[in-house]
Amino acid sequence: MATFGNLTDRLTDAFKKLRGKGKLTPADVDGTVREIRRALLDADVALDVVKVFTASVRERALGDEVNKALNPAQQVVQIVNDELVTILGGKQRRLEFAKNPPTVIMLAGLQGAGKTTLAGKLAKWLVSEGHTPILVAADLQRPNAVTQLQVVGEQAGVPVWAPEPGNGIGNPVKVARDGVKEAQRRQYDTVIVDTAGRLGVDAELMKQASDIRKAVDPDEVLFVIDAMIGQDAVATAKAFQDGVDFTGVVLTKLDGDARGGAALSVASVTGRPIMFASTGEGLGDFEPFYPDRMASRILD
Ligand code: GDP
Repeated sequence: MATFGNLTDRLTDAFKKLRGKGKLTPADVDGTVREIRRALLDADVALDVVKVFTASVRERALGDEVNKALNPAQQVVQIVNDELVTILGGKQRRLEFAKNPPTVIMLAGLQGAGKTTLAGKLAKWLVSEGHTPILVAADLQRPNAVTQLQVVGEQAGVPVWAPEPGNGIGNPVKVARDGVKEAQRRQYDTVIVDTAGRLGVDAELMKQASDIRKAVDPDEVLFVIDAMIGQDAVATAKAFQDGVDFTGVVLTKLDGDARGGAALSVASVTGRPIMFASTGEGLGDFEPFYPDRMASRILD
C-alpha cells in the first residue's frame, strides 16, 4: 500500500539484518528495535505509541517466548506483526446495529476528511449487506454540502433527507432529529447523519456536533480522518473524542502516498477501533478495516 510503502521497506531492511543468525544477542535485538523505532517515527507514528511498541517488541524478543517452528529473524517479524495488530486495535470491530431500528450512525471530522464521500460509501456498503439506509444532510455549514450529499446519495441509490427552504435550514440539530424521525416513519433501518466539518478544531462547531449527538442519540459515532493529516492526527482525534466521544474511526485516503503512521496511532491513543478504510474517490473504494490484514500489508 502506497501510504506505508516506505515503512514496509524500512522494516524489511531491519529484519534482513537478522537473517541467518542462529541466536539473537541483546545487541542484535537492540539494533533492530532502534531501526524499527526510527522507521515508525519517520512514518509519523506518534512518539508515545512508538515507545510502547518498541518496549514491547524488545521485551518479547529478549524473553524466552520460543516458537520452535520459526528461526530468530522470523520470530521478530512475528512479534512486530502481533504488536502492529495490537496498536491497530486488535480484533476487527463490526458496526453495532440497534435492537430497535433505525440504527443511527453519525459522522464527524475535519472538513475535507472525506465525510460526505464516506456517507455514500457506507450507504452503498450497507445496501450490499442487506440494509436500507437513508442519508441525513446536517452539514449546513458549507454552502454546497447538502447538494454534494444528494449527489452521493443518488450514486449510492439511497434517499437523502435534506432541509427544505423554510424547513429548519440553518438548524442542523433540527435537521438531524427530523431525519431520524423520517427514517422511523418510512422504516429505513439505518440513518447516516453527515455533520459539518471544520478546518481546525473549532469550539462552536464541536458544540454543534455534540448537540447533534445528544439530539439523535446515535448507536455509532464515526470519526473520519484523512490518513495524510500527518502529525496533527493525534491532537485532532483527542479533540473529537472530548467533543463527540466517537465510537469508531474511519481512515480515508489510504491510497495516497503521504506517510500514514499518524493515523495509525489514533486507535492506540483514543482506545477506539478503526472500523473502516477508504482507499479512493469512488464509492466502491471502501472496506471494513481488519487490523491483522493491515499489519500483514505493512509487513509484506
Ligand atoms: P468532507 O469535507 O469531510 O465531507 O470531505 P469530502 O467527502 O468532500 O472529501 C474531500 C475530498 O477528498 C473530495 O475531493 C473526495 O473525492 C476526496 N476523497 C474522499 N475520500 C477519499 C479517499 O479515500 N481517497 C482519495 N484519494 N480521495 C478521497
